[in-house]
Amino acid sequence: MRKSRSPSPVRKSKREPILFEAPAETIEIQEIDPPPVLEQVVRDYSYPNTSIVVRLDYRATSALLNQVGMAGCLQHLCSALGQHNPELGRQLVDRFSPVQLAWLLRALTIYGQNAGKLTDLGVELPTVVRRLLHMVRRDVLTQPGTAGNGFENEVVLCGGWMQASLCAVPLEVEPKVLAELNGLYFPGGLPGRRQLIGALDPDLLRTGLRTALTTVLDDQLKPWDPPPGRQLERVDFAEMAKIADFLQGFICTVLSPFPLAYADGPLYGAPYSGCLASSEEVAVDTDRLLGWMWNRGTRVGRDPNYGAPMKVANYHPGRPADQEALTQIYADLLSDPEFAGKVARLINHTPQHAAADGMTYLLPCYPNPAVRSREIWRWRMTHTLIHEFMHHITHPNVVEAAEGVDQPQILKEGFVEVFTALVMRRLSDRAANDPELRALILGPGTPWTPPPAAYLKAGYGQDGADAQQIADVLGQGNVAVGFFLGDLKRLAIMEHQ
Ligand SMILES: [Zn+2]
Repeated sequence: MRKSRSPSPVRKSKREPILFEAPAETIEIQEIDPPPVLEQVVRDYSYPNTSIVVRLDYRATSALLNQVGMAGCLQHLCSALGQHNPELGRQLVDRFSPVQLAWLLRALTIYGQNAGKLTDLGVELPTVVRRLLHMVRRDVLTQPGTAGNGFENEVVLCGGWMQASLCAVPLEVEPKVLAELNGLYFPGGLPGRRQLIGALDPDLLRTGLRTALTTVLDDQLKPWDPPPGRQLERVDFAEMAKIADFLQGFICTVLSPFPLAYADGPLYGAPYSGCLASSEEVAVDTDRLLGWMWNRGTRVGRDPNYGAPMKVANYHPGRPADQEALTQIYADLLSDPEFAGKVARLINHTPQHAAADGMTYLLPCYPNPAVRSREIWRWRMTHTLIHEFMHHITHPNVVEAAEGVDQPQILKEGFVEVFTALVMRRLSDRAANDPELRALILGPGTPWTPPPAAYLKAGYGQDGADAQQIADVLGQGNVAVGFFLGDLKRLAIMEHQ
């Protein structure tokens, strides 16, 4: 949206009669906003814990600004970075406020002055201009001079410098170790190698999954029956929106610099609070029902608490005949109207993230307090908000790579849980000593209640455990580059011939 600014004297003179003799040169002045005063001291800023050194030198820009004004100066800086639209400088000045323009002028200068380093990292400079302009349009800008080099950090992150720098750090790990970890994605054996799982017993798979999934349905539906003669308490979505925006900032801080380094990612779009809806609104069709079956079936399939039905029946997740048998079992289970009805009801009581529209669907009610206590449920809601946000900011390469492995849920849910648990541990530590945060998470006036221990480690059964193992061996920094920036080898994803 265009910000209000003083009209240019040139345009004004066209509309109104000239009542006095103006000096000729007045007609040439197109900008009346005072230009920003740029720093004249050159310094090198090292971004903490990275190899990035930013040369901050605004002297040439300052001189240019005095010579050709804001539009000309922006035009020159954009052109030096490969954006050659001859009208761009003027369009920017017409559209944006002086504060936005001052941010952009400095950001372009930073990338212009450090262009060689960016090119060495393989960054395409016109892309940087596009990202910086997107940032200015979004208009959530950290001002120059902000404590802790906030402005410089923001420019390094949102322009893509950080992303390129992190992805350029060599992955120092023995190929043998990487291959072993890669094997976790193929529990039945690597493609083209000796397979480790015997013949499928389809009847055992069918009965085992029916029992396990019926247990899941009954357990998870139980809290949603209200106490006799009463209604369940509704969740206040305005309160959830406040928690969501706090968590967005907290997650970015705890996992800094990785999530914000994805310069084309959703963190440079709408805030989390703008992406929340009720799970009651999820339309339940056949695809949705089947999606639930595959997600939950995979979750319980290797879990001894549910009889590990896939293991017991020799289910091989990469064998087409087994996949076909499983598809049939899910279809048969859903052909039972009572079973399908329970799944449909549970889907509307299951938080979820929709990749298609980027929305997060949250539970609309508190559960029956006789079945689940309110304090613990508040932690559950926070855990859910973090978990679903991790889906929101997962790099699309990771979601795509899940299609190419036998155990896709390690990528889709396991790493989500690894990062959720890490954030939960930090959040719990802080909330224990911060009354304001405690009131936000647990609700005003609620006495301190720590989160259940299960929320502080990666869940999702074997898929979470496998992702945690990969994170422990390769290091949190590497898997963060893999998960948030899409550099898949850091998640032990490899090509198979
Ligand atoms: Zn999930």
